[in-house]
Amino acid sequence: MLYRTLGRTGLEVSVLGYGASPLGNEFSTIDPAEGRRAVRQAIDLGINYFDVSPYYGRTLAETRLGEALEGRRTEVILATKAGRYGVNLPDGFDFSAERITRSVEESLRRLRTDYFDVFQVHDIEFGDRNQIIEETLPAMFRLKEQGKVRFVGITAYPLQILAQVAATLPVDTILSYCRYDLLDTGLETTLLPLAKERGIGLINGSPLHMGALTDKGVPAWHPAPRRVLAACQEAAAFCRARGADIADLALQFALAEPAVATTLVGMSKVTHVERNVRLVGTTADPELLAGVKDILRPVMNAVWLEGRLENNDPGAVPKQS
Ligand code: NAD
Repeated sequence: MLYRTLGRTGLEVSVLGYGASPLGNEFSTIDPAEGRRAVRQAIDLGINYFDVSPYYGRTLAETRLGEALEGRRTEVILATKAGRYGVNLPDGFDFSAERITRSVEESLRRLRTDYFDVFQVHDIEFGDRNQIIEETLPAMFRLKEQGKVRFVGITAYPLQILAQVAATLPVDTILSYCRYDLLDTGLETTLLPLAKERGIGLINGSPLHMGALTDKGVPAWHPAPRRVLAACQEAAAFCRARGADIADLALQFALAEPAVATTLVGMSKVTHVERNVRLVGTTADPELLAGVKDILRPVMNAVWLEGRLENNDPGAVPKQS
């Protein structure tokens, strides 16, 4: 395993991080015993960064991760989130200070621990920007003062809102997803320079574009425009015809960006953990990469709308359009 420093937190995190959303059956119904084995194998192979949220499986992922981490808590850097609990506005979200303060206690119980290393406001694009700045993050910073959480971060899909909030308040980490991979490199121009300047730890979620860059393909809820998914299928077939797996290539591409401290892949199977760990430190085949980039070029950086309209990046189109 290779490790990088997570910005000014000073935490040494594995470049491949464990994304726990599949433990909540977000992609398909999983075998919980296999999920537990995947978590423990990940630790044995040197993965030390674990990311979860009460939203994943509506608390199921936190509960399962808590069980799987029993006796191994001190070996991992544990990150969870608060503010998002469901799919849609308004019921799925609560960014009030009161809810954040209650949420941390609930998550601590589910994850069987008495502190989190990183505590993040989940999907700030669904919130009112003023509330996030004036109420939500101050509540998170109070938890930091109390020692319940060591560092505070923000997460979202649109990048500009992340940059705006991070330019206003001293967040320790930023997590974006599907914004630095074979289909989208928006992170490079928006967050990368800011993170470097301010010492913010950068976390890249969903390097497989939430399953789009795999042979298996995407779950029904996948938000990407349909022409993007069609191009992904073509790219996957291109790799298969050359004896390669598009998921391997996608992960190699994402892991190669040194400014990203950890890249979170959703994993609930031991085989995926082992395969993904083996890719750490390897380089993408340049010819294969060039061929895939040619196929994906027409759909590069095609972003979809998430959350409140005013919090979106320019050019975003309706989901699944
Ligand atoms: P992903 O791009 O990591 O894809 C996950 C899917 O790929 C799962 O179906 C998994 O079974 C499959 N997979 C994993 N390894 C594979 C392999 N080697 N070959 C084939 N298939 C493989 O998407 P994700 O899980 O959404 O993202 C990773 C993590 O990032 C999440 O689990 C979560 O922790 C984090 N995340 C956070 C946010 C947020 O905070 N807003 C949003 C998205 C993701």
